[in-house]
Amino acid sequence: MIDQYTGIAPQGDLILVKKLCNIFRDKKFLHVNSTLAGGGVAEILVRMVPFLKDLGIDVRWEAIEGDGDFFDMTKKVHNALQGDTEIITDAMWQHHYDINKKNASTMNLEADAVIIHDPQPVPLVEYRKEGIWIWRCHIDISNPMPQVYNNVERYCRLYDASIFSVSKFAKPMDMDEFIIPPSIDPLADKNRDLTAEEVAETLAKFELPADRKMILQVSRFDRFKDPVGVIEAYRNVKKYNDCILVLAGSPATDDPEADIVLEEVKEAAGTDPDIHILMLPPFSNKDINALQRAATVVVQKSLKEGFGLTVSEAMWKGKPVVAGAVGGIPLQIEHGVTGFLVHSVHGAAFRIRQIFNNPEMARRMGEEAKEYVRNNFLITRHIRDYLGVWYSVQNKGRHILEL
Ligand code: UDP
Repeated sequence: MIDQYTGIAPQGDLILVKKLCNIFRDKKFLHVNSTLAGGGVAEILVRMVPFLKDLGIDVRWEAIEGDGDFFDMTKKVHNALQGDTEIITDAMWQHHYDINKKNASTMNLEADAVIIHDPQPVPLVEYRKEGIWIWRCHIDISNPMPQVYNNVERYCRLYDASIFSVSKFAKPMDMDEFIIPPSIDPLADKNRDLTAEEVAETLAKFELPADRKMILQVSRFDRFKDPVGVIEAYRNVKKYNDCILVLAGSPATDDPEADIVLEEVKEAAGTDPDIHILMLPPFSNKDINALQRAATVVVQKSLKEGFGLTVSEAMWKGKPVVAGAVGGIPLQIEHGVTGFLVHSVHGAAFRIRQIFNNPEMARRMGEEAKEYVRNNFLITRHIRDYLGVWYSVQNKGRHILEL
């Protein structure tokens, strides 16, 4: 499997991944998160687990099971860790713990290295067995609600190390901390090369014109993704440049707010026939890939963002991206080189027009963007880093890595 990445991912990463996998051959590696489908974490693990298995690591991926109250509570924890104000009672914390205790009694936690993703399964560490335990935080906890942070931190301190996506998201903790950004898989259906026919098929399926400029945003219908702001930016652009706007998202299954936001988006779109709101079923990877390839400019006008995988996805396709300067987005976009960072609707409109009116600049920017993703945000670098952390934590204080 890894050889398929030759010529695509940096050769140094492939060499290190192979060597580290040799060191950990047959070792047990366990990932635990809260869902096997949907969201960025599952998107990464679904590709990473078979990759590691193929290289001889005995890797497993488990999702904790919980009830409605548990996931309502963990959503509040998620929001509060990112700075919102939430009320979380002692009884709710007890339920959080009890659900984890129940999962610990049925889940096989035996492993040489365990990575626990995000706050939902964080209490599992109370039931740790042999091996090293690492807490992998995907969210921005730099400015959390103190009481909520304290409740989570009492579990965090039982880990051997923690990993954050962006350095400014981290909080000082009394353990080794590592900064490892997420990644995309260039060979996944979401990102693999497509033929012109495959792209045309998707455009035809959604009745989108192939001969007009297209602004695209792919994201959940969430106010933090600012879909209404994207519509305003499009309207601003439309005064000067002909184009269509495509907003692609998925129907709300577990997020009641998404329906409300979708209504707001539809209202903002009005009767404009050039605004296409696409409700894609889950796992529409190839269609999203095709839309990203068909777009003239990809927008991710987030007001708050974890990392923003959609940014790297579009950059990998050689697209100029106009994105909010928030969260992990500035890590991906060097302003004016690998894309444009914006702070307002007007800023977004200005940069979209600049791209429309300068196809040669857009082409160069797309090329730079692709190379930047190649060197920084591919799955092979991500695996290299996870295995490196495993090695470092396991061999604390000893420097014996012979590669
Ligand atoms: N995505 C998708 N279908 C949709 C909307 C988004 O498959 O309708 C994917 C998108 O391609 C990306 C991920 O979901 O891989 C979203 O990750 P990101 O980090 O951009 O945002 P999040 O939703 O995790 O806040």
